[in-house]
Amino acid sequence: MKPLGPIPAGYDSIGGELAVGGKPASALVEQAGGTPLFVYSADLMRRRMAALREAMPSQLRIHYAIKANSYQPILELMEGLVDGFDIASGGELAMVLAAGQDPSKVSFAGPGKRDEELQAAIGHGVTLNLESENEARRSLRIAGELGTTPRLAIRVNPDFELRGSGMKMGGGAKPFGVDAERLPALAREIIAAGAEWRGLHIYTGSQALDAGAVAETQGNVLDLAARIAGESGAPLPHLNMGGGFGIPYFHGDEALDIGAVGSELAKRFAELPAELAETEFAIELGRYLVGEAGVYLTRILDRKVSHGTTYLVTDGGLHHQLAASGNFGTVVRRNYPVAIASKFTAEPAEEANVVGCLCTPLDRLADQALLPHAEVGDIVAVFCAGAYGASASPSAFLGQGPAREMLV
Ligand SMILES: *Cc1c(COP(=O)(O)O)cnc(C)c1O
Repeated sequence: MKPLGPIPAGYDSIGGELAVGGKPASALVEQAGGTPLFVYSADLMRRRMAALREAMPSQLRIHYAIKANSYQPILELMEGLVDGFDIASGGELAMVLAAGQDPSKVSFAGPGKRDEELQAAIGHGVTLNLESENEARRSLRIAGELGTTPRLAIRVNPDFELRGSGMKMGGGAKPFGVDAERLPALAREIIAAGAEWRGLHIYTGSQALDAGAVAETQGNVLDLAARIAGESGAPLPHLNMGGGFGIPYFHGDEALDIGAVGSELAKRFAELPAELAETEFAIELGRYLVGEAGVYLTRILDRKVSHGTTYLVTDGGLHHQLAASGNFGTVVRRNYPVAIASKFTAEPAEEANVVGCLCTPLDRLADQALLPHAEVGDIVAVFCAGAYGASASPSAFLGQGPAREMLV
């Protein structure tokens, strides 16, 4: 037997079935027209944001990094909840524009921006988080051609990283950002060229659950930003402090203590150095805002036994749930929280492997899981599916196509 990850708080049952937004799984599937289906709870997202606002210092802006989930109704919901959006491609720019978002609240990071992407972003007044000197000069040239003033920030490759983070994106040689020591010169150059200076973006990692590590990194980010502002001789209008707030996916994971993160940050804000006295601060979060608010529902198509092992074969799989299958940046595969949605309150009765319908041994949704006895037709729920599910899985693989999605 292998343990399953913890089912996030806030899910109910109706008539023995998993319920989201007051409706049982079978009704949601019927409403959507079938499985596989991502169901996202607006209520859970609102509650998550409210708790976060409560925990964080009031002047801290909270941005949504849409790569976690760019489903249009979620972008529209987030418009009323967050203070800004972070995008990482021209495609994501088109998505936020289609959702009616104010481009002046959008910032665009990511290495390898094409000329057309820079053009579109500058033309709409989006802030560019510049990833290199070359990108800075291309942006200035393109803005000159358009006859507009570009809004430019610089992404810093910091000389430290977020301790315990799942994906490290700072410290040492990196394709992201400009090395901290080269920052002041580049900042002076773009300010002298007449750009609207939007400050710094410092992103240090992802999926951290340790409040001490997050607080320590935020302290380091503030120190580094103050140093760079001092050396570049220009006040910092805006500092995107990164994010990295994680969610519990696996057995033994404990939720991040946002109260502790918020109170440490409040202490730092109370004693800001002169260089940061006028700065507006933001964090950018993806999975923390939406991850636990989504569940993936997939129907059992076959139940079979091989050499004594029971397999529940579903109509979903890694083409929608790459991360849950263990193939998205994990070294050792562990089980996500998984349940039989159609028998949510039934007692666990047997050990089974839940697999997808793809013809590859990589397509696993739960290994050696203790579950209620499930039959063909039952619905499996994979939790923590609100982030990096639909947006980060190879849905074209084997001609399967995307899953249905709904926000309730
Ligand atoms: C991926 C990414 C995020 C979002 O990460 P989460 O772990 O989902 O919070 C935010 N900012 C940048 C620059 C990123 O690359």
